[in-house]
Amino acid sequence: MTGIETAGELLAHAYQMELEAEERYTYLAQQMELHNNADLAKLFRDLARVEGVHAGDILEQMKGMAVPEIALLDYKWSGNESPEALDMGDMHYLMTPRQALLLALKAEQNAFDFFNHLLRATSDNEVKRFAAEFAEEEQEHVELVQNELEKYPESDEPIRDDMDPPVSQG
Ligand code: ZN
Repeated sequence: MTGIETAGELLAHAYQMELEAEERYTYLAQQMELHNNADLAKLFRDLARVEGVHAGDILEQMKGMAVPEIALLDYKWSGNESPEALDMGDMHYLMTPRQALLLALKAEQNAFDFFNHLLRATSDNEVKRFAAEFAEEEQEHVELVQNELEKYPESDEPIRDDMDPPVSQG
């Protein structure tokens, strides 16, 4: 189903996912700096660092393994971007903290789903072991972002209703 059959293939995918996640979190941190939201900027910087460290770990694990060279378009996920990549189309200049967190949550959930699906679909023990490990890590990221989201309830969002035509104050 997933098209991933070897641990090497799995690691190659995981590596790409971590790199993209690091890039996106760096972007989100910058967005929160523009908002002068030091707390969230720090959270996203921390997450970017965590994803970067994971990428490094994965690179270590790949040493001595048969890791396929995968062209960007041949990764086994739909679209050009990995499940953990944020949808750049969803990103606006000056997104609110809640929007930033929702994007992060979506990316982490996609990443979890990717590994969890693989965990269920594979019959290879090594793939299973890595998939379980990565799924657990992503689950932790999901929970971390969810906890943070509770601090930014929907009602705190500035009300923007750009769809309505301006009303003349006559
Ligand atoms: Zn993650």
